[in-house]
Amino acid sequence: MGKLLKFAGNKLNRLEVERREEEWIEQKFKDPKAKVIIYCKSKILINNNNHKVSIKFISLDQLKKISEKLEYYLIGSLDGETYLTSDLSKLDEKSVNLLLTNNNEFIDCRTAGESLSQQEGGLISQSKSQLEWNIKNSFCGICGGKTKVGRGGQVRKCLKCKTEHFPRTDPVIITLVVNGDYCLLGQSKGRLSRLNIYSALAGFIDQGESIEEAVAREIMEESGIEVEDVKYYASQPWPFPWSLMIGCHAKAKTKNINYDEYEMLSVKWFHKDEIIKALNGENNNLSVPGSIAIAHHLIKAWAYGEV
Ligand SMILES: [Zn+2]
Repeated sequence: MGKLLKFAGNKLNRLEVERREEEWIEQKFKDPKAKVIIYCKSKILINNNNHKVSIKFISLDQLKKISEKLEYYLIGSLDGETYLTSDLSKLDEKSVNLLLTNNNEFIDCRTAGESLSQQEGGLISQSKSQLEWNIKNSFCGICGGKTKVGRGGQVRKCLKCKTEHFPRTDPVIITLVVNGDYCLLGQSKGRLSRLNIYSALAGFIDQGESIEEAVAREIMEESGIEVEDVKYYASQPWPFPWSLMIGCHAKAKTKNINYDEYEMLSVKWFHKDEIIKALNGENNNLSVPGSIAIAHHLIKAWAYGEV
């Protein structure tokens, strides 16, 4: 097992074999003690007890008292307990607010990930991605017919043309390009520029592309730099909504930056000394991503000579 990053490390048994039996799933959906992970408008229900943050699981029994109409998805089991997930976005505010007692609150999943344990972070990535995939695939992409959930949420079958649709994971490469004592960081338009953070360059793997080819293309598109010697470092599930970040290091073959102004606000070479200061939060001119993000670990591993 390689480096274990936040949103990975979920120890649940995903019940891939058992969930093929619909009757068996029906029984799980009747378990009043089943623990349900609750989302509302992409935020997760947590309990914040004096800054000790944990997922607030609701029993299925408790949830059914709030609404009988909700759809549930089976996430898996651990230590004899069943884990489900459900989304409350369509309920009225009054019903949702019934859950907001005793320091319970809805927070965005990235913020939650920063505070939750490894196991609970992993539970978020599986449950949030599965939930959002189901919600966004309630109609068939082939004939437009309604789809019906199967295998507890691991398939949706079209009621009209009978096509089965399966959950997707979108692969994204993220690469730290290095050149001796310098590394290449960029600031994309959007979230990173608002926070004035520089990060490793990233992009979706295109269809028909290997990881190495995607790295070379993305780095060339975003910075104008040619790379070689692409080395895999670690991966990280990223549930926004269902990506897999594939972290790599690569060596620069060329040095002159010519960045894509459509996508990037800035791309620069940074010296290792500046990077180490930034990692320690001591650089007023440069901020890098925090430890929740794989970019942090790619940068750190290079700065401290681990790769
Ligand atoms: Zn169809």
